[in-house]
Amino acid sequence: MQLKSLALSAALTQFVTSITADASAYWQSFQSKIDPTNITVPVLPQTTSIDPTTECKYFLPDPNLFAINATEWPSIWQVATTNGMNETEEFKNLYNSIDWSKCPSAPVRTLNSDGGIDTTQYDPSDPDCWWSATTCTTPKHAGINPDIRNCPEPETWGLTYDDGPNCSHNAFYDYLEQQKLKASMFYIGSNVLDWPYGAMRGVKDGHHIASHTWSHPLMTTKTNQEVLAELYYTQKAIKLATGLTPRYWRPPYGDLDDRVRWIASQLGLTAVIWNLDTNDWSAGETVTIDTVEKTYQNYIEMGKNGSFANSGNIVLTHEINNTTMQMAIDNLPAIRSAYKQVIDVATCYNISYPYFENLQWTHTLNATTNATNA
Ligand SMILES: [Zn+2]
Repeated sequence: MQLKSLALSAALTQFVTSITADASAYWQSFQSKIDPTNITVPVLPQTTSIDPTTECKYFLPDPNLFAINATEWPSIWQVATTNGMNETEEFKNLYNSIDWSKCPSAPVRTLNSDGGIDTTQYDPSDPDCWWSATTCTTPKHAGINPDIRNCPEPETWGLTYDDGPNCSHNAFYDYLEQQKLKASMFYIGSNVLDWPYGAMRGVKDGHHIASHTWSHPLMTTKTNQEVLAELYYTQKAIKLATGLTPRYWRPPYGDLDDRVRWIASQLGLTAVIWNLDTNDWSAGETVTIDTVEKTYQNYIEMGKNGSFANSGNIVLTHEINNTTMQMAIDNLPAIRSAYKQVIDVATCYNISYPYFENLQWTHTLNATTNATNA
């Protein structure tokens, strides 16, 4: 093998290191009939319409592409140990293959009376690098992948969308495709099984696909077994629908500590957090749309005033509903004018292999920059 460029050498080193670091080859037993390099999304009203009612009408996936048997999966939108999924042979084998004596002994966290995470009893010295309490992203225990929280390149907007695949995302994905924008898409396992063609489209369009758990819980409130199941079955679902198994994930609400990070690391997963939060999910829910628009404007302004002169950001946004997706479409032109590049996390972090499969990431910096910025 000849390696002529430094970049290629570095890429290969990263790949080999990652493979060696994975304790388990769990993903190799996952089944998929999808070739991620040659995806054709079946044509039906749900994949072509931009009317939410039509798009979100449930369809039976083509059995030649997927055989989804509900008895073989956790209950949709319930913790991933449901439906006996903590008792399957594959899950027990996985669980027993892990040396739990090395797992940081951070307690399972509890909720306060409002249903939010209770950080009041937590040691202020932050022994567990608990993001919800301190926004810590550098683990304090050994053997844990540190979090990614911002794109290192200056004047860069790290484009990320959580909670998909949303059944009514056709117009939004059409827009991204027309604009040649690539994003990191953090998919919820339950949504992937409900809307597998939506997940297929994310890969077909060249987006960076990552995990966002099976049922979107506050992960530090879950037991070791539940955390493992939330991550494992989402990996399996994304593989089924796209032919790819992610190496990256995002904890819902950013709620992770070293115990959760360590379990994710056993599956070869690295967390992607953010350093700017639009709170777009709350628009029209708990705050006005105008409030979120002002946040967008502030973050756009930061691209012009030198805030990111030395390193870039990763921005938390959502494909959770038509309000958030429309706000994305409305604001992306100004974002692209204000920043040198608007790119996915795999590209901005120079990740050569964002999946376990041997498929090299090909996007390059500035690849998505529009003519006015070039
Ligand atoms: Zn989310």
